[in-house]
Amino acid sequence: MTLDLPLPVREALTRLEDAGYAAYAVGGCVRDHVLNKTPHDYDICSSARPEEMQKVFANERTIETGLKHGTLTVLLQGMPLEITTFRVDGAYSDGRHPDSVQFTARVEDDLSRRDFTINAMAYSPARGFADPFGGREDCGRGLIRCVGDPAARFGEDALRILRALRFSSKLGFPIHEATDRALRAGKEQLCHVSRERIAVELTGLLQGKDAGKALKAYPDVIAVVLPELTPLMNASKWPLILDTIDKCPNDLYLRWAALLSGCGEKTARDVLKSLKMSVKIMDTVSTLVAWQDTDLTPHTIQEMLMRVGPEETGLLIDLRLAKRLAEGKEPEEAAMGDAEALKEKLRALLQENACYTLGQLAVNGKDLAALGLSGPALGETLHALLLRVVRNELPNDREALLLAAK
Ligand code: ATP
Ligand code: MG
Repeated sequence: MTLDLPLPVREALTRLEDAGYAAYAVGGCVRDHVLNKTPHDYDICSSARPEEMQKVFANERTIETGLKHGTLTVLLQGMPLEITTFRVDGAYSDGRHPDSVQFTARVEDDLSRRDFTINAMAYSPARGFADPFGGREDCGRGLIRCVGDPAARFGEDALRILRALRFSSKLGFPIHEATDRALRAGKEQLCHVSRERIAVELTGLLQGKDAGKALKAYPDVIAVVLPELTPLMNASKWPLILDTIDKCPNDLYLRWAALLSGCGEKTARDVLKSLKMSVKIMDTVSTLVAWQDTDLTPHTIQEMLMRVGPEETGLLIDLRLAKRLAEGKEPEEAAMGDAEALKEKLRALLQENACYTLGQLAVNGKDLAALGLSGPALGETLHALLLRVVRNELPNDREALLLAAK
């Protein structure tokens, strides 16, 4: 079996080999090739030390990503390649970071520190596969299995517990029995993992093709990282929520909104805040949760634009469609047709520059002040005019609006 690596990757490997070092593509990119998927990035590992890599790529643009840990990023023909020296990690006394890293000359040692067999493969056109833990076999069977003793590996870094769920969701693979047992037994250790790292893996899990299945199979693990969801996971609407997640397009905001749709706006925001998510994510997701049950018709789209904005209106259409599909009370074509009509109307409104903000209104504060309005009454009148415009009760026309204001 040979892998068809992109040209810049081959070139990096060849240059390292020509300088006398071993070099392989490694990790996710090898797994994706073996699974016939397109990798989104390429990592390289090599026996070269960081300062030796710097000499090999002296004429290229490099970024000193993590020299202490042996990582240099090299830009070859526009492709960023992360090159890391073969290393073994020292003890994880805090269950989060290795206390030290130690460089090694053997690729097998480097692979032994990696989390799952499917992620512990390396490939080089010159040297072939390094696959000491049966990664190719597990790719073929479709299994998530720890490298080495699962309990020990989760003890070193409890984030791997969530990573197992993330890969299970992303690839649609079940988790090997011993790995499954160990991750359930070790789940409480997730309390010591940083919330930012947890957020990354949870988001990956939610965006996987089997998100609903993974959440359904591991409520005990989810409860440790998202205790706010415990009441919901025991409620009768939980299966519907899982189905809604799966019916949502693979979008960060939609998947989080679907997960938190049974929680209420405030709890949704609190959950995302506890995960140290960005303000943009908190705002968008909590808006979607708040408005999820508002009926949308082509006539009310312009008002929704005013209330939540264009991006959120589009997402709301998708979320409401996913909910209808999950409920399954009507033919899918009917729900999908309605959503398409709403999207069409949304596109048309944006294209014709329809008014949905105060700034677009044909009158402004000065105009109303000239009519003798001031203070709160002025602001309220402007808002009332905007509302009548978005409801199509008034044209966005200066004369008409001034008359109405009077
Ligand atoms: P994706 O395609 O989703 O990015 P990936 O396999 O590249 O998947 P990353 O999180 O980018 O996943 O990690 C890159 C590689 O580093 C993994 O394939 C794995 O070999 C190793 N790795 C990452 N995190 C850990 C960890 N916590 N413990 C052990 N190995 C890890
Ligand atoms: Mg990756």
